[in-house]
Amino acid sequence: MRQATLLKAIVVGVAVGVAVGWTAGERAVAVAWVGDLFLNALKTLVLPLVFCSMVEAMASIVASGDLGRMAKRTFLFYLATTTAAVILGLVLVNLMKPGDGVVVGSLSQPPAVEGGGIEAIAGSLVSGNIFAAAVAFQVLAVLVFALAFGAALAAVGEKGKPAVLFFASCNQALLHLVGWLMYAAPVGVGALIAARLGQAGGGAAFAAEIAAIGRYCVAVIFGLLVHACVVLPLALWVLTGRSPRRYAANMAEALVTAFSTASSSATLAVTMRCVEENRVRPATASFVLPLGATVNMDGTALYEAIAAMFIAQAWGVELSLGAQAVVALTATLASIGAAGIPQAGLVTMIMVLEAVGLPLEGIAAILAVDWFLDRCRTTVNVWGDAVAAAVVDATASGAPEKAG
Ligand code: ASP
Repeated sequence: MRQATLLKAIVVGVAVGVAVGWTAGERAVAVAWVGDLFLNALKTLVLPLVFCSMVEAMASIVASGDLGRMAKRTFLFYLATTTAAVILGLVLVNLMKPGDGVVVGSLSQPPAVEGGGIEAIAGSLVSGNIFAAAVAFQVLAVLVFALAFGAALAAVGEKGKPAVLFFASCNQALLHLVGWLMYAAPVGVGALIAARLGQAGGGAAFAAEIAAIGRYCVAVIFGLLVHACVVLPLALWVLTGRSPRRYAANMAEALVTAFSTASSSATLAVTMRCVEENRVRPATASFVLPLGATVNMDGTALYEAIAAMFIAQAWGVELSLGAQAVVALTATLASIGAAGIPQAGLVTMIMVLEAVGLPLEGIAAILAVDWFLDRCRTTVNVWGDAVAAAVVDATASGAPEKAG
């Protein structure tokens, strides 16, 4: 099947999923197992792919002497786009004031959530047992080990080469496997969407939930759209000379997968495949994307800033400019600390709320619609990673001339 045909099939899958979930309501949950099968197949590929590709990428980047430069550019770009997203969110929420006039008493009970925080972020970097980390799907810990291992293989020179070749060949095979799996995507994403919409009670119930805090949803979605359709494309165009429209069109499979799985990590294998097909060098893609899937979350950062301010407005708490700066800083940290899994951002938001003394009950106010906004922000997270890969690749040494 050609790529364009597959993409059309995926779009049809999404449309059918929405139609079934909307009309069948809770009965659509019956197809959840089909979606879970697809999701699990994707997730199965993540850790082997992260490990093999990161080892290969690190070995080649260290050997080329480009590590410092690439790491610096990657983190600078991540920080710049995340900060832009947070500021955009704060500006919008101050202009639109979605929380003003919201009746908090009518909102549902707060969920039981566990705290996140700096210690949690640091703790997730080093696990103490790499196999236990893999079993617990702690992508960041596996990533850190792969980074160090790849660098060590490069450092031992000739003796490390057979191992690097081994991981490089596994990486190729895994990416090929992702290509095969994508043939199941039209049915997989359709089932995921239908089941989740069904779980929310179908179209009418979902529309009522959205309407209850409609202005908040509009603010988040509008912010995400501005970041995804203006800020990131502008950065891509200015820094690489690439056509954002063409680059986004070639990323479509990954973006749809992000929307339907609500997980940057589960989407990672597809993101890597799309980015490499988009003429980004494999070493850059393998270095930038796994890191991005765990620490670079523009959509999450923007959402956290808007959500925290929405809660402040709804509870009638006036936040000074200084307090809003704290929101900006903690929203950035909370997005870095959020794992690339569904609704992780909702949990790390505790850090933002606690930093400025906002009520944790506020999370209950936005809980009902979070599953949907999570999909929207995950799509932007993945798009942000893809743009970062192109930008870092274009500015790394030995980059080809600006591509169209
Ligand atoms: N689901 C998001 C992701 O995987 C994280 C979040 O904001 O909850 O990128």
